[in-house]
Order: sequence, then C-alpha cells, then structure tokens
Amino acid sequence: MNQSLLPANPARVMPISPGIAIGPARIYRTASPVVIATKIAPHQVEAEQQRLSAAIDAALQELQELQAQVAKTVGRNEAAIFEAQQLMLQDPDLIDEANESISSRLFSAGAALQDVAERLARELEALANETLAARAADVRDVTARVLRHLDSEGQSATARVDEKTPALVVAYDLTPSDTATFDPERILGICTVVGGPTTHAAIIARALEIPAVSGIDAHLLESLRNGQQLAIDGAQGLLYAQPDTIQAQALRAAMEQQREERTRRRSQHEALWRTRPGSTADGVHVQVFANVGDVDGARSAAELGAEGIGLLRTEFLFGGREVFPDEQEQFESYVALFRAFGERAALGKTIIARTLDAGADKPFPALEPLIGAMQEANPALGLRGARIHLAHEELLRQQLRALLRAGVAASIELAIMFPMIATVEEVRRLRAIYDAVYRELEQEGVAVSAQTQVGIMVETPAAALMADALARYVDFFSIGANDLFQYTMAADRTNSRVTGMFGTLEPAVWRGIALIVRAGAAHGKLVAVCGELAADTRIGPLLAGLGVKELSMSPPAMLKVKAALHAHPMDYWRQRAQELLKVETAADAQAVLQSIE
Ligand code: PEP
Ligand code: MG
Repeated sequence: MNQSLLPANPARVMPISPGIAIGPARIYRTASPVVIATKIAPHQVEAEQQRLSAAIDAALQELQELQAQVAKTVGRNEAAIFEAQQLMLQDPDLIDEANESISSRLFSAGAALQDVAERLARELEALANETLAARAADVRDVTARVLRHLDSEGQSATARVDEKTPALVVAYDLTPSDTATFDPERILGICTVVGGPTTHAAIIARALEIPAVSGIDAHLLESLRNGQQLAIDGAQGLLYAQPDTIQAQALRAAMEQQREERTRRRSQHEALWRTRPGSTADGVHVQVFANVGDVDGARSAAELGAEGIGLLRTEFLFGGREVFPDEQEQFESYVALFRAFGERAALGKTIIARTLDAGADKPFPALEPLIGAMQEANPALGLRGARIHLAHEELLRQQLRALLRAGVAASIELAIMFPMIATVEEVRRLRAIYDAVYRELEQEGVAVSAQTQVGIMVETPAAALMADALARYVDFFSIGANDLFQYTMAADRTNSRVTGMFGTLEPAVWRGIALIVRAGAAHGKLVAVCGELAADTRIGPLLAGLGVKELSMSPPAMLKVKAALHAHPMDYWRQRAQELLKVETAADAQAVLQSIE
C-alpha cells in the first residue's frame, strides 16, 4: 500500500464492540454469491420451484445446526438470532412471492429469491427504528445462504478465516453467520466498512468479546494488504491504520492486560458457581443437576459443581455392542460411574438412574435377539422405554438388581426412574416389579438402600394429563422436555423438516409442564426437568419460577444457568413464569423471554 495514504493518527470510526486489538490485517471477502438474473423456459417452472424449495430446506437445516452450535459456543440469546432467521426463511409471503416470480416472470430460483429478499431488505432499511432496520442484514444473510445452495457449480463456497495466526478481520460487511463462526482466540478484532451497533453481527461480536469497529473508509479496505499491522479501539471507535512504534507498544500492552483480565474474570466466575448450589438472588435454593451419559460425563459433572445427576442415561452400557450385558457387567459399570461422580462431588451425591430407554431414536441391536427386531412404521409411537420393560420383565429385573447393588457398593444416593410412561397401570406394574426385586435382594442378604426413591419421567401428554393420579404412585417426577415437546407438538424430534417449525417454548408444552408441577406440589412430590429446556439460561430460571425444584442439564450449561438464576429473586421468576402461562403463541412466549433482563 502507498504509505502516504495511511493516516498517522487514529481515524474516528463507529464503536461496535469494546476492547483493544492490534495485529496483522486479514482481508475477508464475504461469500455472497452473485446472481445473474437468468431467465428460464416455461417448461422449467416446476423444476425451478422445487430447486428453490430444496435449497431453502438445506439452508434451514444448516441454520438449525448453527443455532445449536452458537448456543454452545456463544450463548442461547445469540443462538436465538438463527432461530429468527429460520422463521424469516419460512415466511409464506416470501416463498409465495419468489414462486410467483418464477412462474409469471420466468425468473430463475436464485434471481426470484434475491429480487424478493432485496426488496424486503430495502423496506426494512428504510424504517426509522434502528433495530428493525438492522434486520435487513439478516434477510441478506439468509438469502445468501439459500443462494449458495442454488449455485450448482459450487462457486460460492462459504468464506472462512482459515489462517492460524491471530489477526484482525477487515471486511466490507459481515453477516451474523460469518461472525458466529469466528474463534475469539484467532480473531483479535473486526473492522468493517458498513454495519452498526444494533446489527446481529455486532451483538455476536460483543458476546464473543471480540473488539470491533465499523465505518472504516472503503478506500482503506481496497488498499490494505494481508498481514499489514492494524489496531482498533472498539470502545472509543478508533482505527490505527498504521500505528507507530510507541502507539503499537501501548496498544499491545493494553490488549495483553485486557486478555489477562478476561481470563481472571472467567476463572473467578467459574470458581464461584462451581462451589455454590443453585439459588435465586434472594437465596431460594433450586437444585442444579447434570445429565450424564458416560463415566467422563459423570466426572466432569462433579468437577463443574453438579448437585447431583438428574438423568443418568444408562443407555451408554447397551449401545454399540452385539451382546447384551448381564447383571454382573452392568453392576461393575454402574459402580465405576457412580464412583467417578461420588468421589469428586462436593455438593451432593444423588444419582437418578433412568432404566434403559430403548426404542424410537435409541435403537439397540444387542436387544433385538432378546425382544425381536424392531421394524415399526412409527417407532417414536412404538415399543420403547417402559413398554419394553413390561413386555420383557426379566431385562428390567436384571437392570434393577444391578443398579440397586451398585448404589450401595459406591455409597451414593440412588434414585431410579422409568421412561416413556403413559398410564397409571404401567406405573403400578413397574413399582410391583421394583418392590419384588428389592425384597428378593434383601432375602438373598444383599445390602440395598431403603432410601432409594422411585420416580417416572413425564414425557408423554398422557402422563402430563394424568399427573395428579400418577403422583400417588411415585416419589418424584422428572419432566423429559425433549420428548414432551415432540409428543405434545406431534413433531418428530429427529425430523429437521418439522423441528424448526415451533418455538422453544410452545404454549402447549409450557401449559403441560405447569400441569405436572401443580400435580407434584399437590401431593408433595418433587418435580424436576431433565430435558434440554432446563439448560436454557432464560428458561431454566422460569421453570424454577413455575415451581420446578431441580433443573438437570448437560454439565457445561450448569455454571451459566446458576449465574442466570441468581440474577433475580424468586418472585421475579414467578411473575415471568405466570406471564408465560398466559400467552397464546410461541412468538409471544419469545417476547416474554426477551423481556428478561
Ligand atoms: C427427554 O426426553 O427430555 C429426555 C431427557 O430424555 P431423552 O432425551 O434421552 O429421550
Ligand atoms: Mg426422553
């Protein structure tokens, strides 16, 4: 670059995400495909409309995956951006208009979609409300994603920042999808020509704690070379296009200090929540438990401050093998896992083991020689969980014996629960089997714990509707929100064509949960939630507000949920939960979630 074009002093730009960054520039060319407005022949209309529909489906699938990834790496609130993008792509007006352009104007699928989407983006941009105007970037982001799938030559691969050396990304514009894939260890800062503080890309940059500025001179972008030193101050909105030695030294020291502070803050935050049980700001205890599926998970649950294991998926023992494990093998595996947790756990030693939940999305080849092959048209509505226990009692007896023996051997507080319950009869029969196994072990002189609690998973609408009756036969309820959602909404949890159609908190599901909580409370029985809903930092505390006493989730989510729960007193969560009970649509439920400070 011609050195004389570079300003010696920092240039004023727009502050987007606070922090100092200094390092080599990396020019980032966004991967928006260029659509050439090709026309099609009349006989191609139907095929072109199908191509559009397939590309939209593929983009929706990607967005769902991105949403799940961002929920883990950035946060649930930021992941909701990609949920909103999925809704945009499912907007019937948008799809109808694009199809209409294909049939009446003979536009190609890409040209039709881009034409409609660009009009929508411009309308949004023209709005006085800055936040709504910023949604234009999301419309263009989802459009580009679909266009990439329509590009049969595959010329428009997604842009990536592959280099290992940490650098500042310099781009004309960045989409939320681009930003969400940035690794804060490798991306020191972000400079763009366009963009504002309310765009979703900006929200993600702030959540990732990547310093960012926008409004840099487009000429600078043209003249900049990869590797050239650059620095920004994202709080003040300053761009050092060519920092001198003294400036560079000071900026580097500031960046280093910032990094140390962040590391200290994160480890303090973790240490605090690892050692404390879950509670609201006014000290109401809400147990935060872990969902665990193997020995490593049990270890990390204890290390990350679980107050117990709220769902031990015993399926870990039965998968990927040809021979079904016998009682002794099961006993030894349970003891190893129980010890891995019990010996490290500082906040509680309860382990709630779910008996084998086979069937539907969890097929086990080793089970087939024992119960027959499972060829079913609707496996999710077929022989699964407790239904298999009752059809093949000997397998349940074997597992109960192994679990009860292991609980005593590993000195943990064992609780047992049965999955996929629909009727009172099932629970009566399961309890009778449990009681018989218990007596049998006692008669054999094997030590068993009289304290063992017996509960059920509430994950079918039938069980939710019968909760007041079921409560009389169990010690506790654990709501399997994943399945309760699938069965309430009649939306197969493994079918990406329908999973994105509904909001995380559909009013029907939320009302079902409220029914179960009320039934539990009326009979003095603890109600837990072990489906992934509990891991959402906004929903977990709301479940507590509804009266759920134990939230069980994947271990990495526990620290965040404990922190979120502690942000407000119990009354605040109760009020928000009551607001949710009144809403009629998923969009209104989303608005309640968004109102949470
Ligand atoms: C559930 O259904 O919510 C649950 C926790 O069980 P799984 O996901 O293993 O079916
Ligand atoms: Mg389930």
